[in-house]
Amino acid sequence: MKITSVHTAILRIPEDDPLADMPEEAGRFRPVVILRVRTDAGIEGIGLTFYGGAMTGTLRAAVDELVALIVGDDPLRIEAIHRKLGAAAGDNCGPAGIFTLALSAIDIALWDIKGKVLDQPLWRLLGGMRDRVPTYASGSLRRGLTDDQAATAARRLVEKGFVEMKTQMALPGDPSPAEEVRRVRVVRDAIGPDIKLMCDLNQRWRPEQAIDIGKRVEDVGLFWLEDVTACDDYQGLARINAALATPIAGGEYVWGIVPFRHMIEARSVDIVMIDLVRVGGVTQWLKVAGMAEAFNLPVVSHVIPEMHLHLIAAVPNGLTVEYMPWMLKLYQETPPIERGQLVLPNKPGLGLTFDEAALKSFTVA
Ligand SMILES: [Mg+2]
Repeated sequence: MKITSVHTAILRIPEDDPLADMPEEAGRFRPVVILRVRTDAGIEGIGLTFYGGAMTGTLRAAVDELVALIVGDDPLRIEAIHRKLGAAAGDNCGPAGIFTLALSAIDIALWDIKGKVLDQPLWRLLGGMRDRVPTYASGSLRRGLTDDQAATAARRLVEKGFVEMKTQMALPGDPSPAEEVRRVRVVRDAIGPDIKLMCDLNQRWRPEQAIDIGKRVEDVGLFWLEDVTACDDYQGLARINAALATPIAGGEYVWGIVPFRHMIEARSVDIVMIDLVRVGGVTQWLKVAGMAEAFNLPVVSHVIPEMHLHLIAAVPNGLTVEYMPWMLKLYQETPPIERGQLVLPNKPGLGLTFDEAALKSFTVA
């Protein structure tokens, strides 16, 4: 089998909050690069990448330049393609940034093709540990909301059937520790003691702040505290992790597989969060999951639940899928949630089909 043609496009997807319908900043869009890879067997694999921001045109060009190099190649030899693209560019301009983001779109599309060739959904092809996975609502309980809005949003998520959800501290402005603590208690009080509640700091605290506030909220019973300080301050993270009873999660901001070695060896995190497009695609995601397993650590996903559910379901140490609905509107249908769990699809590959009308309405280049 050979790759015969490739196609990319830039989409701008309006930001909204379909889970709890909280206000977003009007007129904001998320730029995404989508990729289609076609083979001489008539099979099409889809991939995408993002985080390019104002450099999304550059990211699209990087995908175009890289994927052009593999037209004529066997799409099932994915490691060979990684090595070819590394030699062509990434060994000198990687591993972080545009190269890895572009590589990930290609890797995802190749795994979609492999699943379709073998007529297996990815989660079964990659390990098939379980056919349902826990998931948590994300993106609704943001730090910019008022306490009342946060409580209302949290109750809406419970009404919708979510049994896990994530909020944020590191509130806007210069909040006191007491204000930070107040916010997370507002959310906990709104949902009761039985809902799993995670909290994301998005790297905004100093290590000493994280230890101070983290201790003050220990009785809230958080399922994890996420990205409590700078993502690559492995020693600072380890100090926080050792000081707090609450599990520490992290990993979404680092690139490729090597930083995870440093993070895990330093005991920086209890829960390893892997981002499909920053890690380098499905191939690299699985390597990090295996590394975490060897250290007796669970793994969780970051955004794009419609793809990540396959990976969390495939591996023995998958814990839960972040249900961040940024890109669900690109597809004809996405996996349903039943009793707080995502139901894995039986269609081959990713099991996703673009909604062509939606794509057309979002395409800008
Ligand atoms: Mg996060």
